[in-house]
Amino acid sequence: MSKWQHSGISRKEALEILASRKASLREEWKRNYLHIKEILLSGSGESNRGDPVDQIRNDLQALTKKQQGCVKCLDKIVDARKRIFYGSFGICEACGEEIPLGRLQIRPESPVCAFCKTKQEREENVIKHPTKTFFFPALAV
Ligand SMILES: [Zn+2]
Repeated sequence: MSKWQHSGISRKEALEILASRKASLREEWKRNYLHIKEILLSGSGESNRGDPVDQIRNDLQALTKKQQGCVKCLDKIVDARKRIFYGSFGICEACGEEIPLGRLQIRPESPVCAFCKTKQEREENVIKHPTKTFFFPALAV
């Protein structure tokens, strides 16, 4: 174990925040899983509007996307645990500043601060969509 760096949170608190985030992600994953199962078994989607096959496909696509998001976050939690061990948890990997407690409580798995996250996303969007760039600071919690 190395020296703890963040001044606003202790190692113990970081572990607790991470554990509760992990529990809620697992719950979310399970809820989505049961929902997917229900759709497949019942053969019907959320609403009765439109073509039922389209409806089922759309619902399954949306739920699968949510599942991938959950798994991604759970993977990041593994890395966040390593940062807790090494004492660098809560320190932005991009700018080296302390990540505010509010963000750590919502997204303890994120290795960067909201400012750097927005900047990274904007750069990714420039690569993906060279003609249009997006900037949504409000979405970066
Ligand atoms: Zn940063």
